Amino acid sequence: MNTQLQRMKRLLEVGRTLNTITELRDALLLILDAASELTNSLGASILDPEPDEQNLRFLVNTPELQMLQTLLIPIDESIAGLAFRNKETVVVNDIRNAPRHSRLADELSGIFTYSVVACPILFRGEALGILEVINKANGANYTGEDVMLLETLAAHAAIAIQNAHLQQQLEETREEAKRLDKMKTDFIAITSHELRTPLGLILGHSTFLRELVSEEYHEQLDTIIRNAMRLKEIIDSMTRLHNVQSGVASVRRRTVSVRKLILDSLAAVRKDAESKGVTLGFDIENSDLMIEGDAEKIGVSILNILQNGVAFTERGGYVFVTAEEVPGYVKIAIKDNGIGIPAKDLPHIFERFYQVESHLTRKHGGMGLGLSVAKMNIELMGGRIWAESTEGQGSTFTILLPLDADQARAADKVFIN
Ligand code: ADP
Repeated sequence: MNTQLQRMKRLLEVGRTLNTITELRDALLLILDAASELTNSLGASILDPEPDEQNLRFLVNTPELQMLQTLLIPIDESIAGLAFRNKETVVVNDIRNAPRHSRLADELSGIFTYSVVACPILFRGEALGILEVINKANGANYTGEDVMLLETLAAHAAIAIQNAHLQQQLEETREEAKRLDKMKTDFIAITSHELRTPLGLILGHSTFLRELVSEEYHEQLDTIIRNAMRLKEIIDSMTRLHNVQSGVASVRRRTVSVRKLILDSLAAVRKDAESKGVTLGFDIENSDLMIEGDAEKIGVSILNILQNGVAFTERGGYVFVTAEEVPGYVKIAIKDNGIGIPAKDLPHIFERFYQVESHLTRKHGGMGLGLSVAKMNIELMGGRIWAESTEGQGSTFTILLPLDADQARAADKVFIN
């Protein structure tokens, strides 16, 4: 006979063990064993509703009731169903007084049920299922203490079931995220490939036409060429991403001047900055600073950040570039006093196609690819890139690049996130 203290200990042990079990079935079996043993019952089961909520099915049983596993219990004609609908424990000590009892289970199991406790498994007011015990030993009556024990165990079951649901949802969300990420990868691969050739033809032919036609048509052709060039930039970004994604991209290291890289990029945005009234500035600590790196990839990365700096800074603002040597690296920072980036968006801005403002309402062009290209390029060289920003005050993008190939190889091992 279990003393009250022994029962309490057993309950405590179930609670502790449950924390270490990851499989729902194992957790529920542990609960059933305790339920059956502590209430001196012949056996115990956990049932849950079918999706249409017409029947309950047996989720798990103790071995004595294993033969019930495939049986469906009609919710409106069973004791378990009554407990499920009313969300209240039902105790039946003499089955002859229970008109709702379904005899199906007895017929299938060959066990005559004479007493039952059906206890709802409740989570936030919702019944997730039923914990049921049958036939207390020696024809004894189920007591208030039995009910309390079962309700405690049902609460454990509720948490275990809920955790399993959450785990499943998490896995589904992960799968969905993976699927979406693959769609982005495929989209980039297909678009960069399929648009390149027709666009090359448009550009080639319109440039050729411009030479042939009289000056009065130059303006129209210039518009075509300018916009085709803009499209080409977008496709170039996609191609760069695709090359890194598919492992085709390689790093061509040469010794390049950091000053030249920065000045070339600044020159490329000068016209836009001037027409917008944004001041450009720089401060390069050591004008002889050289780096072993891929000039094209570094240049594109700095340029993309500078273009954003100019685009997201109001008239009268500035974009300022600094470069300094830190042990083993060069640190390039691009700071603006523009609109800044909301804290909730900051962790995402390097993702492909991510844009803070909705694409439909925003004033600036772009596809949300510039920063992801920069990040892939910089990381390909063993470098790092990150952003700090305060909404309404401005942003600083920092690039840390290894000074030479040896440092880059060492950084590869250090910077794996
Ligand atoms: P896009 O080409 O659309 O600008 P990016 O990948 O370069 O895409 O940038 C992603 C988003 O990050 C931008 O759409 C913008 O909302 C935000 N962003 C990037 N740089 C800045 C900046 N300097 N100031 C404010 N927002 C920025």
